[in-house]
Amino acid sequence: MIDVDPKRYSVHRLLSWKHDAEQEANDEVEGRPRQLPADDEEQEDGWICPFCKSFVGLENHVCLGCRAEVIRGSTAKERDNAMKVGLLVGALIAFGVFGLMPQWLNSTFGWQVPATFGLGLVALGIGGGLALLSGLGCILFDERLHRRRPPRFFRPTLT
Ligand SMILES: [Zn+2]
Repeated sequence: MIDVDPKRYSVHRLLSWKHDAEQEANDEVEGRPRQLPADDEEQEDGWICPFCKSFVGLENHVCLGCRAEVIRGSTAKERDNAMKVGLLVGALIAFGVFGLMPQWLNSTFGWQVPATFGLGLVALGIGGGLALLSGLGCILFDERLHRRRPPRFFRPTLT
């Protein structure tokens, strides 16, 4: 079939299938969870599953051909990581503003700024809120980043 129809079965396509098959075998041997981006050939109202080449409509969350999960945004793990990074960055900024800045203003400009701008524990609350907002911001950013690309397909490893 592939020999009589080189237009449909191009070298590029065959090589990509070979690569997929090798990756699949490799992942199975090493017991890794499997993830591939959707095939990037343009589709009107859906995607081609990179595992089984089934058409998956825009509204589907699971490939009907191979049960692979269709992830359009971030995964739970990616959301977790984004939250951690955001919290850390927010906490560092809060520490810079409330912990270091008053001292810096005093020594640089000779201003009499009290520690934490005199806010005391309130500064801790504001800092916590800032860290939380920063964490949520990172989650939103990560989500939008992934949604701009084709969805990713996850197929759990058979054990
Ligand atoms: Zn599939």
